[in-house]
Amino acid sequence: MHIVVSIKQVPDTSEVRIDPRTNTMIRSGVPSIINPDDVHALEEAIRLKEQFGGRVTVVTMGPAQARDALRETISYGADEAILCSDRRFAGADTLATSYALWKAILKIGEAEPVDLLLCGRQALDGDTGQVPPGLATRLGWPQLTSVFKIEELELSARRIVVHRAVEGGEEIVCSRLPCVITCTREINIPRYPSFPNMVRAARYQPTTWDKTDLGIDDDSQIGLRGSPTIVSKVWAPGPRKRGATVLIDGSDPEAAASQLVRLLMHEPLLEVEVASAGDKHD
Ligand SMILES: Cc1cc2nc3c(=O)[nH]c(=O)nc-3n(C[C@H](O)[C@H](O)[C@H](O)COP(=O)(O)OP(=O)(O)OC[C@H]3O[C@@H](n4cnc5c(N)ncnc54)[C@H](O)[C@@H]3O)c2cc1C
Repeated sequence: MHIVVSIKQVPDTSEVRIDPRTNTMIRSGVPSIINPDDVHALEEAIRLKEQFGGRVTVVTMGPAQARDALRETISYGADEAILCSDRRFAGADTLATSYALWKAILKIGEAEPVDLLLCGRQALDGDTGQVPPGLATRLGWPQLTSVFKIEELELSARRIVVHRAVEGGEEIVCSRLPCVITCTREINIPRYPSFPNMVRAARYQPTTWDKTDLGIDDDSQIGLRGSPTIVSKVWAPGPRKRGATVLIDGSDPEAAASQLVRLLMHEPLLEVEVASAGDKHD
C-alpha cells in the first residue's frame, strides 16, 4: 500500500503576526510546527502501513525551513519526505497551493501508484479547509472530509469505509480507492517518535522539488500569479463591544416573545434578560 500524507508547516502561535505592507504572515523568526490535524493524518497513515504493509510518503509545499517539519515526520515513522519549494510558489492561495501539490502527487505516483491521500481537515493559520478538496478535484478522486474513523479498507477490492463528522451527527461513507481523506483530531492519538526513527530523522535529507522538477511551465497557475484570492486586509478583531441590557417583562409570554424578536431583529448587540412574574427587580 502506498499512502501519501500532505502536511503543512504552520506558525506555532495563536498570535498570528501580519506584515502590514504585504498582508502576508510573518513566518521568519516564528517557531513553526506541523499543522496539528496533519500529525493525526500522519499517525493514521503509519497505522495503515503497519496493518497492510507498504510505504508512507509525506509531501509539503513551503519555504526551505519546512524541511524541519519533514524531518519530524520521519521521526514518527514516515518512509520518505518531499519538499516542494520555489520562490515562485510564494503568496499562493489555496487554488495555487493545490496546483503545485497536485503536480507533486502525480510525480510521486509515477514512481509508485498512490492508494490513498491523507490530509488534515484544516490548517491552523489559513484555516480554509480548501486545499484537500482542490487536490481531489484535480486528481479526479473522491474526497471524504472530516473523517474520524476508518472502519474498513479492502485493498484488493479498492474499497474504503469511513465515519465522517457532519453537523449534528455522523455519516458512514464507502468510497473507491484511490481517494482523498481529511482527518479530524478525533481519529487517533499520535505516537511519540521512536528512538531509531529519531536517529534516522536527524540524518534525513528531504528530497526537494522546484517548479521545473514538477514539470510546471505555466507560472500563471502558481504563487501570487496563480491566486485569485487577494488578501486585501488582515487585522486582529478588537475585543467584543458589550451591548446595553434590556429587561423584558415576562408576565405575558406572547408579548415578551414578540418584543424579544423585535429587539433581536433590530438591536443585535443588546443583552436581553427576561424577568418572569415572580422576579423582583429594582
Ligand atoms: C491568515 C491567513 C488567511 C488566509 N486566507 C486565505 C483565504 O481566504 N483563501 C485562500 O485561498 N488562501 C488563504 N490564505 C492562504 C492559505 O493559507 C494558503 O493558500 C495555504 O497554502 C493553504 O490554505 P490553508 O492554510 O487554508 O490550508 P487548508 O486548506 O485549511 O489545509 C487543509 C489541509 O491541506 C493540506 N495543506 C494545506 N497547505 C499545504 C501545504 N502548503 N503543503 C502541503 N499540504 C498542505 C494539509 O493537509 C492541511 O491540513 C490565508 C493565509 C493566512 C495566513
